[in-house]
Amino acid sequence: MTTSDQVTSSCCNTNSADPVDASQGRENLLTGTNDDTTSCPVMVGSPVSKAAAVSRGLFRDYEDQRYYFCCAGCGPTFDSDPAKYAANMI
Ligand SMILES: [Zn+2]
Repeated sequence: MTTSDQVTSSCCNTNSADPVDASQGRENLLTGTNDDTTSCPVMVGSPVSKAAAVSRGLFRDYEDQRYYFCCAGCGPTFDSDPAKYAANMI
């Protein structure tokens, strides 16, 4: 009896562990993607890759937060009224 119980529980543990591992892998991939993607505070809703924006100098540091822009025109626009555009990201 004891042996039979152990086999059953060990089998269940194996079955439940696999789906958890698979979903964790997917979550990590999604997190990695979302981590590099933000949206432009000037053109709200425009997706911006942080790495691409930094490499092109399309970002500003304002009040301890970094803002990334979708195109070169958004930087000067942000500078003209940073508080207004920063509020778009909250
Ligand atoms: Zn833009």
